[in-house]
Amino acid sequence: MFSMFTRKKEQTSARELKKYYKIVDQINKLEANFSTLTDEELQHMTIIFKDRLEKGETVQQIIPEAFAVVREASKRVLNMRHFDVQLIGGLVLTEGNIAEMPTGEGKTLVASLPSYVRALEGKGVHVITVNDYLAKRDFDLIGQIHRFLGLTVGLNVPMMEPDAKKRAYNADITYGVGTEFGFDYLRDNMAHSIADKVQRPYHFAIIDEVDSVLIDEAKTPLIIAGKMAANEELHRIAALLAKRFKQDEHYEFDDETKATSLTDKGIEMVEAAFNVDNLYDLEHQTLYHYVIQAVRAHVMFKRDVDYIVRDDKVELVDMFTGRIMEGRSLSDGLHQAIEAKEGVTITEENKAQAQITIQNYFRMYPNLSGMTGTAKTQEQEIRDVYGMGVIQIPTNRPRRRIDQQDIVFNTIEAKYEFVAQEALRRHENGQPILIGTTSILQSEAVSKYLKKYSLQHQVLNAKTVEQEVELISEAGQKGRITVATNMAGRGTDIVLGEGVEELGGLYVIGTEKHESRRVDNQLRGRSGRQGDLGESQFILSIEDDMFKRFAKDEVEKFTKKMTVNEIGRINNKEVRELIDRTQRIVEGAHFSMREYNLKLDDVINDQRGVIYSLRDSVLRHEDLIGMLKKMLEETVDFAVRDNAPEELDVTQWNWDKMERTINSLFLTPVTIDRQESKVSRILASLQPQIDELKQMIDSYEENEQMMNVIPQVMLPFIDRMWVKHLEQMAHLKEGIGLRHYQQEDPMRIYQREGLELFGKNFQELRRSIVEELVIFMKSLQLQEEEV
Ligand code: ADP
Ligand code: MG
Repeated sequence: MFSMFTRKKEQTSARELKKYYKIVDQINKLEANFSTLTDEELQHMTIIFKDRLEKGETVQQIIPEAFAVVREASKRVLNMRHFDVQLIGGLVLTEGNIAEMPTGEGKTLVASLPSYVRALEGKGVHVITVNDYLAKRDFDLIGQIHRFLGLTVGLNVPMMEPDAKKRAYNADITYGVGTEFGFDYLRDNMAHSIADKVQRPYHFAIIDEVDSVLIDEAKTPLIIAGKMAANEELHRIAALLAKRFKQDEHYEFDDETKATSLTDKGIEMVEAAFNVDNLYDLEHQTLYHYVIQAVRAHVMFKRDVDYIVRDDKVELVDMFTGRIMEGRSLSDGLHQAIEAKEGVTITEENKAQAQITIQNYFRMYPNLSGMTGTAKTQEQEIRDVYGMGVIQIPTNRPRRRIDQQDIVFNTIEAKYEFVAQEALRRHENGQPILIGTTSILQSEAVSKYLKKYSLQHQVLNAKTVEQEVELISEAGQKGRITVATNMAGRGTDIVLGEGVEELGGLYVIGTEKHESRRVDNQLRGRSGRQGDLGESQFILSIEDDMFKRFAKDEVEKFTKKMTVNEIGRINNKEVRELIDRTQRIVEGAHFSMREYNLKLDDVINDQRGVIYSLRDSVLRHEDLIGMLKKMLEETVDFAVRDNAPEELDVTQWNWDKMERTINSLFLTPVTIDRQESKVSRILASLQPQIDELKQMIDSYEENEQMMNVIPQVMLPFIDRMWVKHLEQMAHLKEGIGLRHYQQEDPMRIYQREGLELFGKNFQELRRSIVEELVIFMKSLQLQEEEV
């Protein structure tokens, strides 16, 4: 879509923005016309635009006028006039790209433009926010403009009644959180009738804080789970084992792909603990699964960082906001493995009924766009996965925030000591301070040091969204000290209190580099909104987690030659390069991980497509007779070919099984000629019976009752097959870690075996459906004959 855009550039140039400014000129020129219209005349423009689109005009053609109309409406309804740069943001979104606009530039209002224009096409626009609070806020605020202009606006939140949801989706513009849209998709594909579905086909989505939604949150797939009792005993033993295990001696763990496998020594220990001979036996697959999950619970999850233990429960922490993820739990026994590790009550396991990654959900939208303050560093990935470019929009007023260079200490203690003293120094005249941390644990550490200097402060962790928004929005008040995880309250504006501008605005201290530069930039961006004064400063230590984990050797080498001053501050300038390099390495590792997971999910994604579209045809009663006849033919065809494989000699063909499978379908049993050596001739010999069955099936064409029975029989089979298949795929994924010694790329193994597995399960599905329905039809016929 945007080919004039070259790749490597870090900054969007004035030349690239020129084409937008041209359109902005047009919009500005139209302002005089539209401002003289009455409200009714202005509102009538919506009908005129829709009509023109219907008559063949393109969205592109109506943009200048439509934008001018939205701006005029916004002036009248909200008393806000879109700045020129906001119009540019709107243009970028309308064409399906990402508008990078710093915090406070008014992205909420920007979204009013593309959502209006693309809603005129009548196919629905989804506006995605990071939490329900913001969805409601934007729905209330921006919704006023759209309602004024005669469009309908809907709000989609969890736990809504299906009817209310349907209404929300049928609105021209629908607000909500991305995960809820994804869950609705999954639920729609578990529905038992078309009427129960809530979504329409996808058209256009605008994702606010797009990097957070598509990159940070994209790590955990959306899973709808059914409950299943866990084997408590196994979990407990596995947890004990995992505690005694040593990395590389008993198990191997790949930081990048999270692939976990046992070494020979580890396997011996498991075999001894459970008293089994050979862990690789198929019958011990479950056992293996429990042990692997116990190891994962051990290496991948840290208490008070990734989860907390409260009231005999393990509660997950959102690593970006530091907030408890209410009601969320890990699936496939991993949650229970953590419970066993912590010795709390073991809950029921989640078994996936349906799942999709955020990436693959949003890739279903034919038109996608997004906005955020920080996307440029991730442009390549965004382009590769979603085909969107990142355009940096100039700020409305010049930026005045000062971003200081990093200050680095030799120990963590020295770092916190300095953080507290900095806070003390700045606090003296009342300058508000926001201290960003990367985990709850760290927030508490900072808090401890502040207390030492009797500094009054607010710690924001594990709080509800509402409390968080409230506390964050007050962080700019005089005399405030706020300690929060980096992403807390993302999307909330920090307005400076009275007299704070004179003190230099909000002072932001970062206490640890995040694993992504984007998140650091988000933290800095909390200060200096809309041309306010402000300052940001990272205060770090060479002992910080990230350097210990990802640059151990380099740090060791560096410490030998570095010099420090009397408070432990490192004098050598190269320390900043070391930090920058490490952060880029970590970013790269995370990127590979997401890429790997996405590739894995792509295998299931295609299969999900097949199953969901089959399911849809069944729900819609689309040519059920034809579908059943086709399934019959394929089942017979497969029964023959599967038992008479080309690569085997005729003498080794499995005639018995072939005959058994086929006869379980036929009205009159057949005997297959075992002298025959050609598959095509065997099939030809079966044709009369197949035709007879097809005629029988045809005879129900007009039978309404049967048309209701067929879907009722098919759906449960399809759903059960899919759940089973998902489980098998999960185990396959686990198992490929076991086979890294096999010289073959694990991804290739997964792709190949995943495909085979699907083929097998799908074949089995068709056979069961055909068998069930043919027998049912036959018995009906017999009954009729008797009467
Ligand atoms: P962002 O999402 O870019 O961080 P918001 O959408 O939260 O910014 O807006 C920040 C503040 O700027 C809000 O208080 C909003 O009302 C105000 N604002 C945005 N655009 C305008 C405008 N054109 N005129 C006046 N105020 C605006
Ligand atoms: Mg915002």
